[in-house]
Amino acid sequence: MMADMTDRAEQQMRFLYTLRSRGVTDPRVLEAMERVDRGLFLKGIFADRAYEDVPLPIACGQTISQPSVVALMTQALDVTPRDKVLEVGTGSGYQAAILSQLARRVYTVDRHRRLVREAESVFRELDLANITAFAADGSFGLPDQAPFDRILVTAAAEDPPGPLLAQLRVGGIMVLPVGQSDAVQSLIKVTRSETGFDYEELRPVRFVPLVEGLVQD
Ligand code: SAH
Repeated sequence: MMADMTDRAEQQMRFLYTLRSRGVTDPRVLEAMERVDRGLFLKGIFADRAYEDVPLPIACGQTISQPSVVALMTQALDVTPRDKVLEVGTGSGYQAAILSQLARRVYTVDRHRRLVREAESVFRELDLANITAFAADGSFGLPDQAPFDRILVTAAAEDPPGPLLAQLRVGGIMVLPVGQSDAVQSLIKVTRSETGFDYEELRPVRFVPLVEGLVQD
C-alpha cells in the first residue's frame, strides 16, 4: 500500500517534470494535467503506460495523443474560466477532460459513435458535468452551439475548415494541426480579430487525419 503510494507520487513527479522540460509552463495547465488520470482513458495493457510521454492506441484504430502535446496545445489555446470551447476529435476523451478543468463549458465531437459513448462514460465516472459529447462530423463544427471562444482540433486537415473559422468568436483562438500528408504537419494558432484571421505556426506535429463522415459503430 505504502509502496503503491510512493510509486504513484514518484510517477506523478516524473510526469510533471517531463511536461515542464517540454515547455509546459502554465501553472493552470500543469495542475489540470496533474488532476486528470490519463490511465482512465486507456484500456488493458496500455493503461499501465499512461504516464509515459507517448501516444497510445485506443479503439477504432485511433490514438490518444502524447501528454506533452495535449498540454502544449492546451497552453497555446489560452483557455479562461469563462470560455465555451469546442474540441473536434474526442478520441479517448482525455483532452476534453483537461479542457473541462479550465473552461466553463466544453463541447466535443467525434465521427466514431463508439468513441463518443466510451468517453461519455469516463466523463460520468469523473463527474465532469461541463462536457457535452456528440457523434458528428466535426469539420462542420456545431452550428447550434456556436460561436465558440476557443476551438481545438485534434486531427489534421489540409487547411482550417471554413465552418470552424466561421464559428470562432471575434477575439477567439483556434489551435489545429494542418498539413498535406501524414508526415508533414504543423500546429497552428489562429486568432480572429475584428477584421480577419491571424495565423501563427507553432511546431511540427503528427496527428491522424480529419476524415469526412460519421461512422455508425
Ligand atoms: N483528442 C483525443 C485524440 C484524438 S485522435 C484524445 O484526447 O484522446 C483524433 C480523433 O479525431 C479520432 O478519434 C477520430 O475519430 C477523430 N476524427 C477524425 N476526423 C473527424 C471528423 N471529421 N469529425 C470528428 N472527429 C474526427
